[in-house]
Amino acid sequence: MQYRTDKKTNTELSVFALGGMRIPKDYATCKQMVLEAHKAGVNYIDTAYIYSGSEEMYGKVLEETGLRDQFYIATKLPLVLTKKSEDFDKYFNRQLERLKTDHIDYYLLHMLVSPEQLVKLQSLGLEEWIAEKRANGQIRRLGFSFHGKQEDFLKLLDIRDWDFVQLQYNYSDPNYQAGVAGMKKATELGLPVMVMEPLLGGRLADSLPAEAQEVFRKANPERSLASWGFRWLYNQPEVTLCLSGVGKPEFWRDNIATANEAFVGMVTPEERATYDKVVEILRSKTKVPCTGCAYCMPCPKGVNIPGCFSAYNARNAISHYTGTQQYMMNAAFMSENYTGAAACIACRKCERHCPQNIAIVDELKAVRKTMEPLWWRIAHKAYHGKLVQKMIKIWGGN
Ligand code: SF4
Ligand code: SF4
Repeated sequence: MQYRTDKKTNTELSVFALGGMRIPKDYATCKQMVLEAHKAGVNYIDTAYIYSGSEEMYGKVLEETGLRDQFYIATKLPLVLTKKSEDFDKYFNRQLERLKTDHIDYYLLHMLVSPEQLVKLQSLGLEEWIAEKRANGQIRRLGFSFHGKQEDFLKLLDIRDWDFVQLQYNYSDPNYQAGVAGMKKATELGLPVMVMEPLLGGRLADSLPAEAQEVFRKANPERSLASWGFRWLYNQPEVTLCLSGVGKPEFWRDNIATANEAFVGMVTPEERATYDKVVEILRSKTKVPCTGCAYCMPCPKGVNIPGCFSAYNARNAISHYTGTQQYMMNAAFMSENYTGAAACIACRKCERHCPQNIAIVDELKAVRKTMEPLWWRIAHKAYHGKLVQKMIKIWGGN
């Protein structure tokens, strides 16, 4: 196993970590996975309150195997359920019980998406609560997982002193959400970067378009599609570790094998060209040539312009499911206020700044038509609060 250093607290972490959103359903397989991962040198497990059954499963396995102290445990405060000061303790204590532990090594604010959201949490006493938990050793490090706009990620990094961050990052779109700029800034601040969705929930593996699969297979018939995804990440010094939640032995063994040979600079010029070809295929299926540069932002009406286009493109290039999931996360649900395409009032301020000369207003209309069919709009309006929680439970996004 290869390790990278969490420079903030001088901790050696395995580059591959067990995720918690998708884990084996049965106890015996989960235990087998933890045992094999431990034997291979994996030392980090990530889970969350809202990943149904995940904290309980890991807690039981770690207690029964006696391996609790061999792993750093990361779990997350469910912000979507945290409405009042008492909720901090309510969920945290439940998490300690579920995980059968007396402390959490890496604690995250789950899906923090904007500075405003953080300010609201601070008004509930978040900082005082964290200070108390740190003082009594129950929380060792504090970070946040992110699914919002890049500009907000950058602001969040400046607002307070964090210990680590967790963001979505993969070769399909390095500018998605926090993106490469967010990752680099976090690294400059000395924060370890935990990468989630390295394979977009497996959709950069077997759900890749057939032409793209063919390009990878031609370049190296022996290498799995998942391995291509991980190698692209391990190649970058800013990536501290990659989280992967897998349910089958052949998948975790393949992931571990890739991590065993992971080093910065492992991608050769020929392999780089292979990624470029695959990304070109994915882009050829894109509807809007948006690069995610965010020069068009901020929109006075709060539209997450690059987020809307990224989801729209993913729907066409990768899958309907991926696009819809991203749209929910990027635009529809993940902030206090709706940030989807329908909020556009056609003022056209953004269009002046777009280096790609995208007709943003017209494209947002197309996004709205495709991503927000009538049934969706009605449901969104009528059941927003309930839908948010249901969608997050289903899709979570680590
Ligand atoms: S045209 Fe629409 S998306 Fe662009 S700045 Fe105006 S409201 Fe925002
Ligand atoms: S400026 Fe243009 S290319 Fe850049 S994010 Fe906005 S729409 Fe996309």
